[in-house]
Amino acid sequence: MTDRISHWIDGKPFTGAAGRTGDVYDPATGQVRAKVDFAGQAEVDQAVAAAAAALPGWRGTSLAGRTRVLFAFRELLSARKHDLAKIITSEHGKVESDAAGEVARAIENVEYACGAAQLLKGGFSENASTGVDVYSIAQPLGVVGVISPFNFPAMVPLWFVPNALACGNTVVLKPSEKDPSAALLIAELLAEAGLPPGALNVVHGDKEAVDGLLAHRDVKAISFVGSTPIARYVYETGTSHGKRVQALGGAKNHMVVLPDADLDLAADAAVSAGFGSAGERCMAVSVVVAVDPVGDELVAKITERMARLRVGDGRAPDSEMGPLVTKAHHERVTSYVDAGVAEGAELVVDGRGIEIEGDGFWLGPTLFDRVGPGMSVYTDEIFGPVLSVARAASFDEALGLVNASPYGNGTAVFTGDGAAARRYQNEVEVGMVGVNVPIPVPVGYYSFGGWKDSLFGDTHAYGPEGFHFFTRTKVVTSRWPDTSHAGVNLGFPKNT
Ligand code: NAD
Repeated sequence: MTDRISHWIDGKPFTGAAGRTGDVYDPATGQVRAKVDFAGQAEVDQAVAAAAAALPGWRGTSLAGRTRVLFAFRELLSARKHDLAKIITSEHGKVESDAAGEVARAIENVEYACGAAQLLKGGFSENASTGVDVYSIAQPLGVVGVISPFNFPAMVPLWFVPNALACGNTVVLKPSEKDPSAALLIAELLAEAGLPPGALNVVHGDKEAVDGLLAHRDVKAISFVGSTPIARYVYETGTSHGKRVQALGGAKNHMVVLPDADLDLAADAAVSAGFGSAGERCMAVSVVVAVDPVGDELVAKITERMARLRVGDGRAPDSEMGPLVTKAHHERVTSYVDAGVAEGAELVVDGRGIEIEGDGFWLGPTLFDRVGPGMSVYTDEIFGPVLSVARAASFDEALGLVNASPYGNGTAVFTGDGAAARRYQNEVEVGMVGVNVPIPVPVGYYSFGGWKDSLFGDTHAYGPEGFHFFTRTKVVTSRWPDTSHAGVNLGFPKNT
């Protein structure tokens, strides 16, 4: 028997009437574990109406009151972090320790949002003109939509939801239909923490639900994370409907290894960042650029480490890498390995033959050497456990390769030379840069975002830019006629 996963509207589960559903798999067994309801326009309308009805009460709740809810949510989330990690593993497939890491990064964002009282302080200029004060107020936007991808079913919603709520907005969240259950536990915990009904609603579904949010006149802003073509579509459609939109897209992250790098450290980093979460991370390293003469030695060290990786069901404590999320995604990733071979890349490790019991969506760690810009394994985001090595003759050639990519999400440089690292961080056209750090995801009090085709819009996610995105400012210029000394009063002045 499969479970049924329904929406969450106005503080409680809500069974949709649209009639369409999607299959949610257990990727390690290949079996359908649940059916998820897909929202049509009617369900989207109901969720937005619930958020709109909750808005006056929530935005009118004092900063202390909103913060108390977020603090309580933080405690509940910490107490239930293992349950949340297990849910993520059962639908996404990533190993539980990795899912726990995702939850830990999610909690960072809740902690940041708990600083709302400090973060929402405006400016004040006393006596800007004689007797005139000028000050700014940051106010919520209203109902905001959050649309998230499958690869971080808890962390990405929590990049946005806590900050949006902290700023006084109400939210409609549309999580990925591939692993929708984490969002529901988040909604339940927020309700338990005291969030009023309707302040966070969850609608499940596909393009129909997304389009419903993008066109809805009562939705004032959209935070989207997903692949580049959909991010572009969401940005263009949302802004054409007058909304504020931040749409984070796909990636093809390069890790440059300079000749003076510690090659053992670099090989460890390449394997960790290439195959963690089966490569289904927007900050995964997918291309290692080996600058001459380190290529052969680096490929040997990476290969050696790959042979020791333990691939298996994410629930087993000794597994290091789980399956891919769905059969369709498995087919897509495998077709890239086939294409790499056909295009002349050197297949050093072939993960296609991996044998694991059951019908899970398994692909073993795969390594290509001598890839180049003419090959689809080099140009396209594969989003699987497929690492490519490109060779470059010099620092300049390596930097040129990175900057020629249409993506600009993350990158890393491995070197022992501070001046080279400094030049790299200065000249690389990428939003998040690691120096001897392979996955440079900013901490919660900085903001997350790529450049070029990795982000559409002006504002990065979470941190200070998150608060900026979820508020609009008003500037008040104020003069109060001073009538306090009008009239005759011979008494000693008192404070009133
Ligand atoms: P996706 O683009 O397929 O889906 C993302 C969201 O958009 C989901 O909620 C999905 O239901 C919805 N969607 C899918 N097709 C749609 C359509 N035609 N019209 C409207 N909405 C649609 O992405 P995914 O496969 O879930 O996630 C993986 C992608 O997300 C990768 O490209 C990855 O790089 C990217 N990602 C980027 C970041 C970042 O911060 N830049 C973070 C995580 C993931």
